[in-house]
Amino acid sequence: MDERSLLFTCQRCGSCCHGETTVSLDESDQQRMINHLGLPGEIVGQRYWRVTGRTVQMRIVEHRCIFYRDGCTVYPGRPWRCAEWPLVRAILIDEANFTAISDSCPGINKDLSYPEFCAILKRLLDAKEADQGPPG
Ligand code: SF4
Ligand code: SF4
Repeated sequence: MDERSLLFTCQRCGSCCHGETTVSLDESDQQRMINHLGLPGEIVGQRYWRVTGRTVQMRIVEHRCIFYRDGCTVYPGRPWRCAEWPLVRAILIDEANFTAISDSCPGINKDLSYPEFCAILKRLLDAKEADQGPPG
């Protein structure tokens, strides 16, 4: 079992795609989504995004992400924040974050203690950042 699977296995419950909060898309996310959908950027923006000033987010329809329909319908083109969820660095900062995320995501391995979980997560995130190199 790889270390990521030790921490988390998605149960495809859809809980993280529901609610009134949504995910912001940076410029790479926007381009990836446009490429994946194969539509002009203007159409993607009109159909799927909520643009507030410089902030671009996915639209929420009937209390869920516009792309959610028995699963993510834009999976290869989803934003990086969706791809990293729920193994986020905020877990390392505060146990309360871990508890909140663990309570809301049935895919988190509840058998690990907080320190055990953090030790593995830190290794994973540090390795990922080292692969990606410095920002910019
Ligand atoms: S809440 Fe967790 S288990 Fe459910 S779909 Fe989201 S990531 Fe997967
Ligand atoms: S893009 Fe996909 S994974 Fe992200 S919130 Fe929408 S349906 Fe969920």
